[in-house]
Amino acid sequence: MNQRYLTPGPTQLFDSIPSYIQEGLQKDVFSISHRSKDFEEVVKYTKSELRKLLNIPDDYHIFFLGSATEAMERIIENCVEKHSFHFVNGAFSKRFYQTAVELKKSPQKLEAEFGQGFDFSNLQIPEETELICFTHNETSTGVMTDLNNIYEIKKKYPDKLIALDIVSSAPYATVDYSQIDCSFLSIQKGFGLPAGLGVLIINQKMMDKSIQLNEKGLNIGTYHNFPSLLKKSEKNQTPETPNVFGIFLLGKICNELNEKGIETIRAETEKRAEMLYTYFDSHQSYKPFVKDKESRSKTVISVEIPERSPVIISKLKENGITVGGGYKQFKETQIRIANYPMINEEDINKIIEVLSS
Ligand SMILES: *Cc1c(COP(=O)(O)O)cnc(C)c1O
Repeated sequence: MNQRYLTPGPTQLFDSIPSYIQEGLQKDVFSISHRSKDFEEVVKYTKSELRKLLNIPDDYHIFFLGSATEAMERIIENCVEKHSFHFVNGAFSKRFYQTAVELKKSPQKLEAEFGQGFDFSNLQIPEETELICFTHNETSTGVMTDLNNIYEIKKKYPDKLIALDIVSSAPYATVDYSQIDCSFLSIQKGFGLPAGLGVLIINQKMMDKSIQLNEKGLNIGTYHNFPSLLKKSEKNQTPETPNVFGIFLLGKICNELNEKGIETIRAETEKRAEMLYTYFDSHQSYKPFVKDKESRSKTVISVEIPERSPVIISKLKENGITVGGGYKQFKETQIRIANYPMINEEDINKIIEVLSS
């Protein structure tokens, strides 16, 4: 049976993807040189549509990388001499922390239990911290951090840099870029595209830090260090031969979402999330994993399934809906339902119908 993929990532592609691929083929986008004017036009278009969609200020740089995981490494390499500080409440925020460990920095962390948010009251960030790292939406657990808590921290520590992982919350998330220094995403989640492209958004402070570390003799990486990325980006190029397929399709999808209107997308996302949480809150045995309503993600809904989730996953599959299992240790006791912009109310109603029968 044909499946709709309500999986956290990779996920369901937008229905329009085949037509955009056709268009790219007709225009030879996937054959042209990455040093050509035509390629520069593609990059320019994608950056401008993405800037519009996510409301990214003109003075923030947009760079294309291989993945969000790469973005974590580049951010640490370019902006941390010794001390980053990480808010860890699941697998992806832990990966960010671990990246700093593996790059031989001395990161510190504040940990919250899986499925819970952080206690932001009386929070102290160590004096020596250079960069504070947040994961807006912990895809592994379905916990979303209120951005206002992050902005408060920026107010309290204006001299520290803030990096925000928005991989599974974009484009739904309304990020105020004046209150953070950097964010990043990859395209196989909320953008409903084939995997293999990361996007990094940084301000001049991040760039200056990178230049400063380089002058101090630290290793900031090679072709994807910030100065190298900027040099090419200013010409709408990339240091290496990039994923032009992903860059082209991202521009098309951002344009489609801009035409639809980001406010509509946000309202629809919230409505579908509400449908799911309302259903599971009143279900006899399947319950939302995240108990605190304020911490519940709108884009990845985790549900506890006491009698083993693989049974439920197969049942949904037989009805044309593929959902994710729980992450790692929760593999067989939870399901995770992605609620990204390409998902519609019919998909949600189908899930509710199947689980109720
Ligand atoms: C999926 C995910 C990542 C990793 O993305 P890749 O494209 O696989 O590198 C990082 N952070 C979060 C929150 C994610 O959901």
